[in-house]
Amino acid sequence: MEALLPRPIVQEIVITPSFHTLGLSADLLRAVAEQGYTVPTPIQAQAIPVVLSGRDLLAAAQTGTGKTAGFTLPMLQLLANGSQSRHVRALVLTPTRELAAQVQESMRTYGKHKPLRSTTIFGGVNIKPQIQELRRGVDIVVATPGRLLDHVQQKTIDLRHVEILVLDEADRMLDMGFIHDIRRILGLLPKQRQNLLFSATFPDEVRKLAAGFMRDAVTVEVARRNTPAELVAHVAHPVDGDRKRDLLAHLVKSNDWRQVLVFTKTKRGANRLAEQLERGGIDADAIHGNKSQPQRTRVLKRFKDNQLQVLVATDIAARGLDIEELPHVVNFDLPHVAEDYVHRIGRTGRAGLSGEAVSLVSAEDRPLLTAIEKLMNRKVELRVVAGFEPGGPRMHRSTETKNPPQQRPQQPQRPRHVPRQPGPMIRPTGTPAPAPRPKQGKQTPALFTPRRLAA
Ligand code: AMP
Repeated sequence: MEALLPRPIVQEIVITPSFHTLGLSADLLRAVAEQGYTVPTPIQAQAIPVVLSGRDLLAAAQTGTGKTAGFTLPMLQLLANGSQSRHVRALVLTPTRELAAQVQESMRTYGKHKPLRSTTIFGGVNIKPQIQELRRGVDIVVATPGRLLDHVQQKTIDLRHVEILVLDEADRMLDMGFIHDIRRILGLLPKQRQNLLFSATFPDEVRKLAAGFMRDAVTVEVARRNTPAELVAHVAHPVDGDRKRDLLAHLVKSNDWRQVLVFTKTKRGANRLAEQLERGGIDADAIHGNKSQPQRTRVLKRFKDNQLQVLVATDIAARGLDIEELPHVVNFDLPHVAEDYVHRIGRTGRAGLSGEAVSLVSAEDRPLLTAIEKLMNRKVELRVVAGFEPGGPRMHRSTETKNPPQQRPQQPQRPRHVPRQPGPMIRPTGTPAPAPRPKQGKQTPALFTPRRLAA
């Protein structure tokens, strides 16, 4: 008898946010699927419906949370539904040229099935092609504030039709001293418009700015203030200041690091370090504000394409860099402002991948490390590297970069144009390398787990 009864159906209902429930049109969903995204990140799940509703949005989200698609997707939809006038109807302001280029790249990617045109406007490159692009008519402009105002001055851009304004990485724009430029630009826009502001942190200046021009904004938050990527392992190597360069070369070679972003305090320091590493047989280059924009673009492309092993950068130059799967960030010089450490290590541990933030700490750097630990509310593990003990004998002195030691086998030169295998993390010399990290596709990044939603 029992056997004749239907078995009860036990069904576990798991509510997973889906791109299909956010109100996006079919062609945008197609573009998203083509990127391999299966689920929206928390910022996307929260921001997209708000933007589509036409309301102002104040979003606390760091780079790496998927925020760009969070504003780009709904913006493309709103613009495509509106008049196809080829006036500038959306303006995205970013702190850096690199971020502007990346945001526009996202516009292109997500908007490839939409008949909308976008362009970037930033300094350091010839203004004429930008003027020609603007003359041809564009719907979306992604700009850095300074060059945008140059166009305003030359009357080569008309901002009277802007319907949507995005301030991306607002805190960094203010850090970089753009407040007056931003206020001037706000004064040139129509009063009736939608405002979106994204910022990793909300210091008083950002709040004051937002309060001055946003109306009845919906606030969404996906990351705690100043929360460094939780998947990042932090380690500090105590070392004498004059041996940092040798230690860096040693770490790169002995661990076979293949894609390392290194931070220095100064542009000169960045150049010098890159040259010294180059001389020691490590493929290195520098990126900073004194390099021309084409140079910066070229070097960044090489680094992203895994054709450049070490990129040495200053803080300003590195802002907004989105380098997927960047496994190692090295603080050659510790930042003077502890918050910059958080920005720096935001370059690794992206999209749920584990990453490592390595700091080379001399005796003078100790107070800076303490400030960083205080900000992060966690201790950074101190690990002395054998042969580089502070005040110790100088076994490796200057050999790393000039004459590689004979006793240690040389790392084979990495072939060019070969996709990078994930590099091993720092491990004591002589221990076997851990199994390589499994290659992760564009899946739901662990960084976006609900745990991180807690304010
Ligand atoms: P962003 O915070 O906008 O700089 O994005 C960080 C990275 O996340 C970028 O490399 C995006 O391609 C990626 N990304 C954005 N949205 C998703 C998603 N829904 N699923 C997986 N990856 C995503």
